[in-house]
Amino acid sequence: MTREDQIARVIDENTGQRAVQFKNFLSLLGIGEEAANDYIRSRHDRPATGLSASQKRGRLLAEQFIRCYNKTPDCTERYQRVAWRSLFMPTEIMYAMDIMPFTTEMAAAQFARMGRQIERMETAEENHFSQDLCSFIRTAAGAVIEDLFPTPDILVTSSHLCDPSAKFAGFASIKYKRPEFVLDIPYGIYGGVYEHDVTRIEEAVEYVAEQFKDLVGFITLHTGVEFHEERLRQVMEWSNQARKWMKTGNEFSYYEGTPVFRGSKDIDYAANLMQTWGTEKIVDVYRTRYEEFVRGAETSEPLPDRPRIHWYHLKPYYKNNLMGYIEEHAVIASNMVNSIYWDDMDPDDPFRSLARRTVMMPGYCPVSVRAKLTTQWMVEGDGIIAFYPKSCRHFHSSSRIESEIFKEANIPYLAIDGDCIDNRGDDFAVVKTRVDRFIKGLKRMKTGAGRGRQPKYVQQVFDRK
Ligand code: SF4
Repeated sequence: MTREDQIARVIDENTGQRAVQFKNFLSLLGIGEEAANDYIRSRHDRPATGLSASQKRGRLLAEQFIRCYNKTPDCTERYQRVAWRSLFMPTEIMYAMDIMPFTTEMAAAQFARMGRQIERMETAEENHFSQDLCSFIRTAAGAVIEDLFPTPDILVTSSHLCDPSAKFAGFASIKYKRPEFVLDIPYGIYGGVYEHDVTRIEEAVEYVAEQFKDLVGFITLHTGVEFHEERLRQVMEWSNQARKWMKTGNEFSYYEGTPVFRGSKDIDYAANLMQTWGTEKIVDVYRTRYEEFVRGAETSEPLPDRPRIHWYHLKPYYKNNLMGYIEEHAVIASNMVNSIYWDDMDPDDPFRSLARRTVMMPGYCPVSVRAKLTTQWMVEGDGIIAFYPKSCRHFHSSSRIESEIFKEANIPYLAIDGDCIDNRGDDFAVVKTRVDRFIKGLKRMKTGAGRGRQPKYVQQVFDRK
């Protein structure tokens, strides 16, 4: 069989499988295909102008989701090449090669929003997935076993941050008989802010840039799509524009001291792990977000002076009382997942630029380094709530060390042992008591003394050396 024949066979198999998987997905929601088509059309028939940033974002993600099942927004069928990706795998090369990313962890979060996560996790647990495995992955594993996700053309994951994602991709790769690619990221590169670390950083950048080039070859080999540099350059420019608006919005809302939005909703952007980097539409989403902040600051009544919180990691995606309760008493003024920690990328040097952004991910370095980074830009008087899933090896295990570092830096810190997806252990009454005590402590502190401090990203410090 020639390479072309093999690719044609994959497309043929995927087309048939995705039609079944889409029906499986709809049956979970208890709706038929016709009703689903009507809903999809109605969501996409208005122009985007006039939508809020959050609506634009929701629409973009919904469109990407249905395209993975070969459905267009007007409900015609069109084959879409799909790469399953893990949360921190960059997406620019995929968009440049017309590959749609499908982030299984995001789909798991969506199941939790719909209240459909528990059955998926139970399916996974009945099939020997450990209960203490990250619940994003457990939910996705259940969905794979139940055949709910669209069969991928390829799977691409990275080794950084989420310990189980490459293993999970290995499992799905065997089930669907599709090839996988794992990007290997050296650990702890963000710590390199001193002269003697320059070589180490540059070696890491080179090492990962070479793997991005391999990824291009892998995509062409398995999908038949050719790479065009010009297209990647365009995608990188969109990423840079999106970065600018996201960063400007973050800084406006945090440093101007005008929290004009519900911070718990803002966590939904989860910008630094999102699959939308490299699309033109996300530029508009982040620009609209910034404009909403400015308009809100000009037109809204000032909010009561409440304690301000910087939020660590993600939030519970299932129906919960926690986020609403916190926001009755405090303001979630910023969060870890929206932080823009990288500089503009060079579209003329795309592989090295992407590699630099990837290896300089501050979450993937010693706890002391990333905690110190936080202390550099936080406004005095603000506190941190770290909502860490107990099943997250990476973040949950670091909370004790963080707590000691922040105590020394006089930054109030509360770690909540929670879960973003699995609500079987949710105990609001217990958490509420701890939150009350924490917010009371924040209120006692003198607030606002450090307003106007500017962020000092380690990457920029490094660049000046
Ligand atoms: S909980 Fe931890 S392992 Fe799971 S998706 Fe989040 S960072 Fe990754």
